[in-house]
Amino acid sequence: MNFSNTYIGLGKDFYEKNRPTPVREPRLIMWNSRLAEQLMISNELKQDQIALGQYFSGNRILPGSEPIATAYAGHQFGHFVPQLGDGRAHLLGEVIDKFGQRLDIQLKGSGTTKFSRGGDGRCAIGPAVREFIMSEAMNALGVPTTRCLAVVTTGEQVFRNSLLPGAIVTRVASSHIRIGTFQFFAAQNDHQALKTLCNYTIERHYPELKESPNKYLGLIEKVIEKQIHLVSEWMRVGFIHGVMNTDNTSLSGETIDYGPCAMMGEYDPLTVYSSIDTMGRYAFGKQPEIAHWNITRLAECLLPLINAETNKAIEQVEPLVADFPDRFMQVYMEMLGRKLGLISFQQEDQKLLFSILNRIKERNMDYTVTFDLLTKSLKSEAIASQLKNELGGSFDLWQKRLSEQDANLQKVHDLMRQHNPVVIPRNHHVEAVIQDCEQTGEATLAEKFLKVLLSPCEELTETSLYQDPPKDGDENYQTFCGT
Ligand code: AMP
Ligand code: MG
Repeated sequence: MNFSNTYIGLGKDFYEKNRPTPVREPRLIMWNSRLAEQLMISNELKQDQIALGQYFSGNRILPGSEPIATAYAGHQFGHFVPQLGDGRAHLLGEVIDKFGQRLDIQLKGSGTTKFSRGGDGRCAIGPAVREFIMSEAMNALGVPTTRCLAVVTTGEQVFRNSLLPGAIVTRVASSHIRIGTFQFFAAQNDHQALKTLCNYTIERHYPELKESPNKYLGLIEKVIEKQIHLVSEWMRVGFIHGVMNTDNTSLSGETIDYGPCAMMGEYDPLTVYSSIDTMGRYAFGKQPEIAHWNITRLAECLLPLINAETNKAIEQVEPLVADFPDRFMQVYMEMLGRKLGLISFQQEDQKLLFSILNRIKERNMDYTVTFDLLTKSLKSEAIASQLKNELGGSFDLWQKRLSEQDANLQKVHDLMRQHNPVVIPRNHHVEAVIQDCEQTGEATLAEKFLKVLLSPCEELTETSLYQDPPKDGDENYQTFCGT
């Protein structure tokens, strides 16, 4: 792998140089060969399981890598923590993939750093496998996300509620710059570092802004656009992030940090599974509001760069940030329109979209199953009549709307199929697979599950094994940070 380390160039306030703590007995249990190919990892390395285990546990350092733990702050559940940072992760460096994109390679669970705050710096096998499955499933679903290259077990145990096998997961991301990274420097009134960070972010993610006279305002605008798209995509597939703290909000617009995440079964905007989210701050339907809140925190950090006079800076930023809810609603409705086969969304369609969603909610219907059936109903009389029973007048209105648009059935079907998966990483299947990994130390079932998840809009022979909604409607399902 051909490493470079541009983040190190930002200066020592941005990170701590720190090497991973070696582990007893590294063993590669999951490997993403498609991603490895994208990263142009040499065949020599790819074929050497032992070496892969050594390198992706951090026991050996890849040539050119200069491991660091990055500094950041963050609002966690609304409360500001001035210093968080990578307490159990090492950024090995950046590589350029075969499309010319610069990507971060990060080990997570690779030992303590100065940011560990009393934590053990480690990760259990469950959260590592969860991150691999969920992020690869999200990528296949077409949702912007960090990726996973490898999971290596350590041969050591970590203590959480019980003793669990330890593991290290290799995360691949467009970058690890978070809103919390800006907050880290803003909290110290370090305007020079903020400027450096902004310019780096622009160079790396939004180079089209470089020459813009108002590039910092432009940066906020770009991040708004990306977050709107991201959260709308989460809501398309029923994803609940679960811990949308500002340190888990990436400037690149990727989903990052698969901690207590879950998939919604029955449609209900108030759905929450995270055991620590007792107030429902990060409920499914709250996600747009929280993204807006997080963006506002970013905008606050950038005020001094936009205008030396705070009032003037606020005047410039406020309209942009205040527009978020309306802009989100537009993107969200267009997305729902596509889920329902509307070739072009009209404002008048809003009523239809919400009447269908309300009906799905009232009838406690499964979100994924219902949109899959709606797609299939275009080609099946039986399914259409079943849905007509359940959705009542909303179904008729929808059919009427479809019949009035100028598009053939196949085109509408393809549009719907593209936006409505037949299978998602349902919570009970994810849990069953993770439990098996914990017990066997192998990822055989995880790989089998992933094979299906990698074709989320196609019914393969094994797909039906994973489509069933939870028998108890996930009534008592709880997720944990796993930290
Ligand atoms: P997260 O909940 O993963 O977003 O992490 C929040 C913060 O806690 C980050 O600064 C992490 O590095 C830190 N952290 C989480 N788990 C551990 C751990 N086992 N050891 C040390 N730091 C941790
Ligand atoms: Mg995090």
